Amino acid sequence: MQGKIVKGIAGFYYIHTQDDAVYECKAKGIFRNQKIKPLVGDNVEIAVLDREKKIGNIEVILPRKNELIRPAVSNVDQALVIFAAAKPEPNLNLLDRFLITMEKQNVETVVCFNKTDVASEAVKEHLLKTYGSCGYKVIFTSALFDKGLDCIRAILKDKTTVVAGPSGVGKSSIINLIAPCANMETGVISEKIERGKHTTRHSQLFCIEKNTYIMDTPGFSSLYIDKMEKEELKDYFIEFQPFEEECRFTGCVHINEPDCGVKEALQKDRISRDRYENYLLLYEELKNRKKY
Ligand code: GDP
Ligand code: ZN
Repeated sequence: MQGKIVKGIAGFYYIHTQDDAVYECKAKGIFRNQKIKPLVGDNVEIAVLDREKKIGNIEVILPRKNELIRPAVSNVDQALVIFAAAKPEPNLNLLDRFLITMEKQNVETVVCFNKTDVASEAVKEHLLKTYGSCGYKVIFTSALFDKGLDCIRAILKDKTTVVAGPSGVGKSSIINLIAPCANMETGVISEKIERGKHTTRHSQLFCIEKNTYIMDTPGFSSLYIDKMEKEELKDYFIEFQPFEEECRFTGCVHINEPDCGVKEALQKDRISRDRYENYLLLYEELKNRKKY
């Protein structure tokens, strides 16, 4: 039978199968046969050992489309990052870090600004201009007034999405509204998962409708930009790309070089100043970071 790993705890994997059941499985022989460790998000073939008790063994891990390190999950189609448009004011440096992390992992990101009911038109316009002009899809929502949530539902449909956002922005409110059944594991799994409760938070996929999964990632604390050379950073500011052709020097990092297409675009207001300033801050951070 085929299914998807939705959670893994201490050597047990929970497989959501196509008939909407959850099997508790071990992965005996997998590492020997395939030399890879199962990952949440993996599509797998399982052998059913006990149909009543829903116990099985993972036989085959099907080929992965991709594999994220942070959070650890495979076969991700996209990320949805949620900030508040106001209250709290969005920390755009944090948002840019998230976008860079996802660009580096080659995952498309949709940006959602919630709490539009308490944000001014000018702020919303500015946010749309800043991120929309980079090519990101930008959605505005108000969980409080049930605005924009259909748009989120449409974006999630038939995909596996990593959902992230700092606390207090309304992420839980949104998830509860679009996926009231976020505990799809009625009965069986919640009982089984109870056992693992003493352990730290695990990544878990929730099936919100057929073929539609979300992973709620816990906070932003682990989001930093490591394993990146400062010269590489520019590649993840996707709006720079069309202007880089105009740079005189190959490998121009768009800071002190003369005849720089990106700086020229900045002068002409074709690149967001907020984004460019975050670029400079992050570049400095990478430059000054301790090398271990
Ligand atoms: P999380 O920490 O991101 O999961 O945020 P919560 O969903 O717990 O929401 C944090 C606070 O913001 C709560 O008091 C919510 O009632 C409030 N909140 C959530 N969405 C909205 C919204 O769209 N507008 C307003 N004004 N408040 C909201
Ligand atoms: Zn340049």
